[in-house]
Amino acid sequence: MESIWTMGMEETGYPPLIGEKSADVLIIGGGMAGVLCAHALKSAGADCVLLEAGRVGRSVTAGTTAVISAQHSTLYSDMARKCGVDTAKGYLEANLRAVEDFRALAGKMDCDFEERPSLMYTKNRPERLHKEVRTLNALGFDAAFTTDVPLVPDAQGAVVFPGMAQFHPLKFLRAISEGVTIYEHSPVRKIKRMTAYTDAGSVRAKKIIVASHFPFMDRRGLYFAKMRQKRECVVAYEGVPPLPVTAVEDTEAGMFFRSYKNTLLLGCGNFIPGKESDEFSKISKFKERAFPKAREVCRWVNQDCFTLDGIPYIGAYSPATPDIFVATGFNAWGMTSSMVAAKLLTAKITGSESPYGRVFDPARPMEALPLLENAASSAGHLITPTVPRCSHLGCALKYNKSEGTWDCPCHGSRFSKDGSVILGPAAKGIKVK
Ligand SMILES: Cc1cc2nc3c(=O)[nH]c(=O)nc-3n(C[C@H](O)[C@H](O)[C@H](O)COP(=O)(O)OP(=O)(O)OC[C@H]3O[C@@H](n4cnc5c(N)ncnc54)[C@H](O)[C@@H]3O)c2cc1C
Repeated sequence: MESIWTMGMEETGYPPLIGEKSADVLIIGGGMAGVLCAHALKSAGADCVLLEAGRVGRSVTAGTTAVISAQHSTLYSDMARKCGVDTAKGYLEANLRAVEDFRALAGKMDCDFEERPSLMYTKNRPERLHKEVRTLNALGFDAAFTTDVPLVPDAQGAVVFPGMAQFHPLKFLRAISEGVTIYEHSPVRKIKRMTAYTDAGSVRAKKIIVASHFPFMDRRGLYFAKMRQKRECVVAYEGVPPLPVTAVEDTEAGMFFRSYKNTLLLGCGNFIPGKESDEFSKISKFKERAFPKAREVCRWVNQDCFTLDGIPYIGAYSPATPDIFVATGFNAWGMTSSMVAAKLLTAKITGSESPYGRVFDPARPMEALPLLENAASSAGHLITPTVPRCSHLGCALKYNKSEGTWDCPCHGSRFSKDGSVILGPAAKGIKVK
């Protein structure tokens, strides 16, 4: 994926895996989650190996806006109501600790780490945000309400999280990868009896972490049934003075923005793969009003995995696989979620317990309605008779005209015009006439 972060950033050059290896811990996937897990485990003294299908950091993490915040799109007041106060408190604490962990780690590295308060603003529901502040205060966090929202003259206020941050994700990954044993261009095809097989080798491990964005073993964990992928568009405009905050709107497909030096990153969206969207024209209108002279540097579309209750799945891959772990479903908040995963899984693997295991447990009970809605939507695409079909579970693919790709609306796999896989869970290419 090309983005502001990949521009001028040299690709990594780790070798592919050839032959048989062994390790205490194998990490599958070299995005923010996988590399942070490897770094945390290595720091705890574990002998680890990381296998990456392509190049480190060049998949979803390359298209992030890299805001480090515990203020996520799910309102804590909603989470407390739906999942209980203890869960909301655990989620908040885990993510606030993750921000502190980033400050301690990234603050010392060459990765353009900068402190920024984060805002969630509203154009029409200030009472909802006042309630959010009250909930956060009751949970013990010093959030506040402000009417000072840069770039959005019609905002009616925002919730402020002080002490949050932003950084350059690929510079950070480069710094924390140092000393980790990594093999690139080594997609894992299967895991059997704690051995992961690639096309040219294998790694036997005592513990395995699957950090492949969308988990690729369908028979365990049923992640295809309890996650959706959704897409968002981002444009980088240069010639804009640095902003003092990062911000997101309080609606599902609302705007979000941050600065990187004198470049404004402006985004919005929340649409399923394969759907045409007019997000870039919304972004352009916003920019014309705020900074008519700013020049576009680059634009990209990226997607993330969304869980049914807004909480990531971090823990045992399934109850039947206690030595295989997963970190997925970051709901477009993968910076702190990856750090939460690194800390939680390192604690589990090294024999201590994280206080947040229950909050992120992938086997937690799910409400029936969202599960049924997800299943019904997938079933609809499964019985649609058009071709080509996805190599993952056989859903009807949709042609994405603007990007020239074949996209799966059910599980989010994407294929290039010639049928090769761009993004999983699909592992095999498709035939395109
Ligand atoms: C537009 C947009 C903006 C965002 N902005 C923010 C933000 O400001 N703040 C924030 O916190 N979050 C943000 N996010 C979310 C965040 O970017 C993601 O949650 C995070 O980058 C996901 O990291 P990952 O490691 O799970 O996935 P990835 O970066 O995709 O890494 C997974 C890796 O696994 C590899 N892989 C896959 N299958 C295999 C296999 N079989 N064998 C070996 N390797 C494999 C892939 O090649 C890939 O490199 C944003 C998301 C989007 C879409």
